[in-house]
Amino acid sequence: MTANDRNPIPLQLGRKHEQATAPFEPGSEPPREGPLVDTFGRVADDLRVSVTDRCNFRCTYCMPAEGLEWLPKAQILTFEEIERLVRLFVSLGVRSIKITGGEPTVRADLPELVAKLRSIDPGLELSMTTNGYLLDRLAEPLAAAGLDRVTISCDSLQRHRFAEMTRRDAFDRVMTGMRAAHAAGLSPVKINTVVIGGINEDEPVAFARFARETGHQVRFIEYMPLDAEQSWERAKVVPSGRIVQAIDEVYPLVPEGDGAEPASTYVFADGAPGGIGVISSVTEPFCDTCNRLRLTAEGQFRVCLFALDETDLRAPLRAGAPDAELERLIRAAVWRKWSGHRINHADFVRPAKSMSMIGG
Ligand code: SAM
Repeated sequence: MTANDRNPIPLQLGRKHEQATAPFEPGSEPPREGPLVDTFGRVADDLRVSVTDRCNFRCTYCMPAEGLEWLPKAQILTFEEIERLVRLFVSLGVRSIKITGGEPTVRADLPELVAKLRSIDPGLELSMTTNGYLLDRLAEPLAAAGLDRVTISCDSLQRHRFAEMTRRDAFDRVMTGMRAAHAAGLSPVKINTVVIGGINEDEPVAFARFARETGHQVRFIEYMPLDAEQSWERAKVVPSGRIVQAIDEVYPLVPEGDGAEPASTYVFADGAPGGIGVISSVTEPFCDTCNRLRLTAEGQFRVCLFALDETDLRAPLRAGAPDAELERLIRAAVWRKWSGHRINHADFVRPAKSMSMIGG
C-alpha cells in the first residue's frame, strides 16, 4: 500500500491552540505567589541552563570555524550559583531542567553539578543536550549523578557530511556516545537533527530507519535564524510537514497525543521501536504554549529564545541579593514575556546572541 492509497497522515503541525490573548492587563503587576505566569496565562515550568558558551564542534549553522570570543571564566556562573538559582526556580514551579551550552560536557566536573541539581528534588526531570563527543566516558558518571536522559545532536548519518556540517570528523565517536548513553540508562535517547535545504534534506528517511533500528527518538528541527555567521535564509528551512510526509511514505506513521514537548511526535504504524518528531519553530511556531525559560552561562535570564532583552541575575546574586529579590526579578521578566517570536513578520529582529551563546 502506498501513501496515495491511504488517507494522508494527519499532520499534527501547529497544534490547535486558542489564540493567545492577554487575560491580564499588560501594565499590571505579576502575581506574588503561585507558578511563573505571563500576561497571556502561559505557565513557565521548563528551564534550560547553559553551563558554558564554549563548544568543541563548529557546526556551520551555529558557530564560525574559528569559534567565538569566549566568556572569561569569572563571568560564568559557578556550580554553587547555578544550584542556588535552580533551587529558586524549582520553588517557583519549574519541573524540568535541561543542561545545555555551548557544549555542556566541555565544562569540567559536570557530574558534580548534576549531583547538586539532583539533590534539589529527586522528582525533577533532569536532562542534557550534547553533541555526544565526550559521552563515551561521561555517560556513566552523569547517570550515576542523577541525570535522567540525554538528547544528542546528529545532523547526518553519512561520515563525510557529518564532518562537513560539524567541521569535525567525529561521526564514529558520536555513535559511540549514543551507545554509551543507552547503556548507561540515559534513555530514551533523543537525537536532534537540524534539517537544512540543500545540505541534508535527503536524510530524514535514513534517520527514521535509524530510529527503528536503535529505538531512539529522532527530532527534526527547522533551521532557525540563530547562526552566528548570519547565513540563515528562509529558502534553507525545510518545512516539517514535508519531512513527516517523506517518512510516512516509506514507514507509515501514527501521531502521538499532544505531549508536554514542543515536538509533534509520531510512532511507527507497524509497531517498530523508536519514533520521530518535528520541531517546527519557523513554519508552525509553538509560542502559544511555550513553557520555556533560559539561563545563559553568564547568568542572564531569557524568557524566549528570540528575546531581544535579558534580565541579569548574576549581578544581584553576586551582590548578595536574597531569594525574594531574585524571585521578584524572575516573576517580572516572565510576566513581560511576549506573545511570540517574530520570525515570520517583516519586523523580525535577530537577537544579538547566537544559539551557542544563549544555550539551545
Ligand atoms: N552542544 C549541545 C548540542 O549539540 O546539543 C548543546 C547546544 S546546541 C546550541 C543545541 C541545539 O541547537 C543543537 O541540537 C543544535 O543542532 C541546535 N542548533 C544550533 N544552531 C541552530 C540553528 N541555527 N537552527 C536550529 N537549531 C540549531
